[in-house]
Amino acid sequence: MDNSPICRHNLFTMRCLICKYICKHGKQKSRCFECGGTSLCIHKREKYYCRECRGTGICKHQNYKKTCKICKLEKNKLIDKKIDYFLNDPRLLALMEFYILQLGC
Ligand SMILES: [Zn+2]
Ligand SMILES: [Zn+2]
Ligand SMILES: [Zn+2]
Ligand SMILES: [Zn+2]
Repeated sequence: MDNSPICRHNLFTMRCLICKYICKHGKQKSRCFECGGTSLCIHKREKYYCRECRGTGICKHQNYKKTCKICKLEKNKLIDKKIDYFLNDPRLLALMEFYILQLGC
């Protein structure tokens, strides 16, 4: 890379957003392994989704949190319990609707 103040996008290099976020490999700098991207782990994966690194996108069942069926079941159970709880107390019934709406389901 040369140090000219004008980049290949005809902008001041300092100000060019493309130069700032996209590396010479055409990837987002933070996701480019060659560039030592910070969101990538030593396994060449995104840390968030790396099982070995216990990424936060991986659940305790070693699945992707978003698609894990066990997590989903557990969540549904939790909702069932909550609804039972609401049903047992008429004062809370009014809150139930609000609660369910918040869950977005
Ligand atoms: Zn540029
Ligand atoms: Zn790169
Ligand atoms: Zn990893
Ligand atoms: Zn899970």
